[in-house]
Amino acid sequence: MLADRSVDVLVIGAGQSALATAYFLRRAGVSMCLLDANPAPGGAWQHTWNSLQLFSPAQWSSLPGWPMPPTSGYPTREDVVSYLTAYETRYALRVERPVHVDGVRQRSGGFTVDTDRGEWHARAVISATGTWGNPFAPTYPGQEIFKGIQMHSAQYRDPAVFVGKRVLVVGGGNSGAQIFAELSLCAEAVWATPSAPTFLPDTVDGRVLFERATEKWKAVQAGLPTPDVSGGLGDIVMVPPVKAARDRGVLSATRLFQRFSEDGVIWSDGSQSQVDAVVWCTGFRPALDHLSTLGVLGQDGKVALSGTRAADVPGLWLVGYGEWTGFASATLVGVMRSAKATAAEVSAWLMPA
Ligand code: FAD
Repeated sequence: MLADRSVDVLVIGAGQSALATAYFLRRAGVSMCLLDANPAPGGAWQHTWNSLQLFSPAQWSSLPGWPMPPTSGYPTREDVVSYLTAYETRYALRVERPVHVDGVRQRSGGFTVDTDRGEWHARAVISATGTWGNPFAPTYPGQEIFKGIQMHSAQYRDPAVFVGKRVLVVGGGNSGAQIFAELSLCAEAVWATPSAPTFLPDTVDGRVLFERATEKWKAVQAGLPTPDVSGGLGDIVMVPPVKAARDRGVLSATRLFQRFSEDGVIWSDGSQSQVDAVVWCTGFRPALDHLSTLGVLGQDGKVALSGTRAADVPGLWLVGYGEWTGFASATLVGVMRSAKATAAEVSAWLMPA
């Protein structure tokens, strides 16, 4: 059995980032296995809210080697889960699940990876655990006395529990816009953002965003001034539900509140609002607890990297955590660049000297 658990490369996670990297590693002919804590394929996409719509069309939401099958309109979360499930099968990727990686230890010749199903051994390790497992919500004065519901967007599935309630949606990105748009149909919803939300023109979607972000990235790579193109991957794409909220005249946001009271929030002008629930659409942090055993997590919860390779741990790479691990690496189409580069580095690392 141990032979089965000793491979050249262990990939921790089997979401889009891991699959894209495994696609390139597979071509290099290394022995590998992906370990994933989820019982089913699809990574974070299987846990998002039911009505979530991608902000990029199918052909701009594809992993290497196989374009996402066309969808009517922007792909839904179900489209992505089906695509990632089929992708694993199509490339006969070896995925063991559910396996939760608890820790990674260095050993001579590589690593021991401790999991809830025993040890695995590998010469190289790639961490592709994403961020969904580490939702972030800010703390506010008075939060401990607030009697209402508090939920992060990572736990939000549909509006059912909020119907007819006074709900505060906090956060100015795509999650905040899409969840506020949905709640504005059935609840007394208020949207609070740190600054005025940036809505992209109706014609701009993930494809254009990615092109613009690529322009900026190329300029930075060439040491040129970044072109004055508006729009970044965090700006709000006018997917149909968000557009419909605008057409209903409700897509407006107020600035953040100061503190909680028992039954609501207190704004900067001292006025109060009664609130039954708060939905935190305040983003995520990298899910890297399993690397804490290596002593490589910085104050910011990240790992010092050279490209995607851990600067202080030879044989460890990180893929798919957002800009700090590669331009647009937290997107389906964007992760290809860093996945390909990582697979090439790992293959070279494994070659006999
Ligand atoms: P994940 O999909 O989170 O997969 C990580 C995997 O690692 C999971 O299966 C998890 O079970 C596993 N794992 C974690 N920890 C462990 C552990 N300790 N042991 C074993 N397994 C572990 N991207 C786009 O390209 N287009 C879009 O339109 C788009 N829209 C978005 C809208 C919203 C509202 C949000 C929140 C995100 C959106 N994204 C979009 C981003 C995209 O969803 C994520 O970036 C993507 O899921 C990241 O993929 P990943 O493989 O890195 O991580």
